[in-house]
Amino acid sequence: MRKIAKEKLGALLAAVGRDKPLYIPALDASGQARFTRWHEGLEMARALNTVRSAKDFFFPQTENLVDFKVKGKQIEIIDPRSEQEDFVLFGVRACDARSFEILDKVFLADPVDTYYQSRREHGTVVTLACTQPEETCFCSAFGIDAAAPEGDAQVWMDEEYLYLSARTQKGDKFLESVRALAEDGGEDAVQRQQEETRRVMAKTPLAGLNLEGFDGEHLNPLFDSEKWAELSQACLGCGTCTFVCPTCQCYDIRDFDTGDGVRRFRCWDSCMYSDFTKMAHGNPRLTQVERFRQRFMHKLVYFPANNDGQYGCVGCGRCLSKCPISMNIVKVAKELSKEVR
Ligand code: SF4
Ligand code: SF4
Repeated sequence: MRKIAKEKLGALLAAVGRDKPLYIPALDASGQARFTRWHEGLEMARALNTVRSAKDFFFPQTENLVDFKVKGKQIEIIDPRSEQEDFVLFGVRACDARSFEILDKVFLADPVDTYYQSRREHGTVVTLACTQPEETCFCSAFGIDAAAPEGDAQVWMDEEYLYLSARTQKGDKFLESVRALAEDGGEDAVQRQQEETRRVMAKTPLAGLNLEGFDGEHLNPLFDSEKWAELSQACLGCGTCTFVCPTCQCYDIRDFDTGDGVRRFRCWDSCMYSDFTKMAHGNPRLTQVERFRQRFMHKLVYFPANNDGQYGCVGCGRCLSKCPISMNIVKVAKELSKEVR
């Protein structure tokens, strides 16, 4: 383990950010934290959750896939991708770091999504351990340790030092890039911080969320529950919960007329929208109850049933704080669990 005096945080960011694009959580004009490209003087925000998750860097909201240029009867097919450059994401929290494992299961499964794959290969994820979880945090319900976040390299911060440890070759390279600022040591301080964080985490209001019964074994009683109608009654179908979610991965592909051809692009979509999965024969989910049920069944039942028990939620709490009607996955899990107990 290496440690760097906290007053050298600016020098650390500069050492990394002068070399390649570096993104850190920083406050925007409205006071909200967003991953922002580092520049001299940019300060790192201490907020736990950025408004939008770190998934944007691997699965952006919009992305051009292919261009078709039409000349008479000739159609030229152009791959718009330029060589992806290496970049570093610094300050990713444990929940967002785990979301990459979930997205990998979707985008890196056969057939591999090469757009996503390229970004994953070029991105180095440096995580930052939490010390003061918010009331809306419940990552521990999914076996995530906020005090030991995953990623290529891990960072813990206290009043005096940043402590750094590498987990992958990319993490080794990151540590190498800040070698001149670092010294050995810090194991004891990290251990003390981890114990304290775990103690605090265990006392958060949602720490005891029980997910027993949310597996492939109880699919029918959960699907058929009459509670869906009541739970979804006030849902506006706004899609906010899907757009702030680090694990939501649905997208739409559309064509745009460029005048001399077609640009094919993809953009995030939401299962909460009425035209989602609309096909030639119409839409298989005609009501908001069905759409609402799909979102939560996917995260709590279908995904774990098909992925060795791994849930499609990391307990980041964004949907808890952003839904305009205060509906969220915790309320749904609590209500639905009564059906299978
Ligand atoms: S954020 Fe809330 S109101 Fe909007 S779609 Fe999601 S559950 Fe419905
Ligand atoms: S469902 Fe909600 S709590 Fe779970 S990962 Fe998505 S935004 Fe976070």
